[in-house]
Amino acid sequence: MAQVTPLEADIRRRIAAAGPMPVGEYMSLCLLDPAHGYYTTRDPIGAGGDFVTAPEVSQMFGELIGLWMAAVWKQMGSPSPVRVVELGPGRGTLMKDALRALKVMPGFSEAITLHFVEINPILKATQQRTLEGAPQQKSWHGSLAEVPSGPAIIVANEFFDALPVNQAVKRADGWHHRCVDVGADGRLAFTVAAEPIPHFSAIVPPALRDAPLESIFEWRDDKIAMDLGKRIADQGGAALVIDYGHTESALGDTLQAVARHAFADALSAPGTVDLTAHVDFEALAKAVEAMGAQGHGPIVQAQLLRRLGIETRAAALKAKADHARAAEIDLALARLIGAGRSGMGMLFKAAAFTHPALGTPPAF
Ligand code: SAH
Repeated sequence: MAQVTPLEADIRRRIAAAGPMPVGEYMSLCLLDPAHGYYTTRDPIGAGGDFVTAPEVSQMFGELIGLWMAAVWKQMGSPSPVRVVELGPGRGTLMKDALRALKVMPGFSEAITLHFVEINPILKATQQRTLEGAPQQKSWHGSLAEVPSGPAIIVANEFFDALPVNQAVKRADGWHHRCVDVGADGRLAFTVAAEPIPHFSAIVPPALRDAPLESIFEWRDDKIAMDLGKRIADQGGAALVIDYGHTESALGDTLQAVARHAFADALSAPGTVDLTAHVDFEALAKAVEAMGAQGHGPIVQAQLLRRLGIETRAAALKAKADHARAAEIDLALARLIGAGRSGMGMLFKAAAFTHPALGTPPAF
């Protein structure tokens, strides 16, 4: 057998002791294991890493989100202080670009205290470096629940897709956990748990309950979404969630492994490849709204960025750019709002959640 990663050895021991491991538990170990998890041991983002995100494609992305935050702050009645919270800030690039752009709103920059929710110590250090020059008070937290109370503007780009997803397979006697087991050839392989999950039909949306046999349904733990909804409903403010995924709950296996900018095998070298899955925006909204916040959208990323003025911003940047830089700006624009396979414009969606008294936030 080929060399196994330390995490794979651990997973094999767990399977030997407790039987096939549900996909959600597998993904959780791969991403979050304190010693060997993907998000605890590396900086995965950028040319030298495994994937590139919208704020890393162009400064325009963070700038436009900064303008969105400024308009929302005004809608909130310009509270001071106001907490600006980012979930999973990556390299801190989005916030750096946002803080520069939001200065156009008098008083906002001075009212902000910054809060970053991050579990990756390497990315936390990068965020601290990126934001060194920002004059605001900054703090880092392990979860949203740790952010002190008060009205808040929360942003999360490509955060929810990185949270572990569970999968169930429809069988004649009910829905069964999709699991990871050791196959006949000695390699890790997907399998289906022997027994159905009790009372599972209640979790599957009514429209999907008649799914054909062998259909796969994915769901995530709602805790973070509910914490976010409760915070906004109780303490005021708004959240902007941008991610890849689907507007309505759907069937299908979307678990995706990526390494070095290419698709990889989700079961090979656990802990060293990025695992994500589509965000189910219908399920997300249901959890946030159940706690009293009001949902808006989702809309596609292309629409969000167009309505916030990305084309005007690109033209302004190009007016000051040389030929090569102008071509780069065009490429970045196509990547962020384009509809094709390499574009993020249609695949990525944006949803906003607000205090019920706030009204509709910009772009929605
Ligand atoms: N928003 C950034 C990074 C996206 S990658 C960007 O757009 O570039 C996902 C981010 O979420 C990383 O910063 C990762 O370390 C963080 N993350 C993943 N799981 C997390 C969790 N459970 N709690 C807090 N942060 C998490």
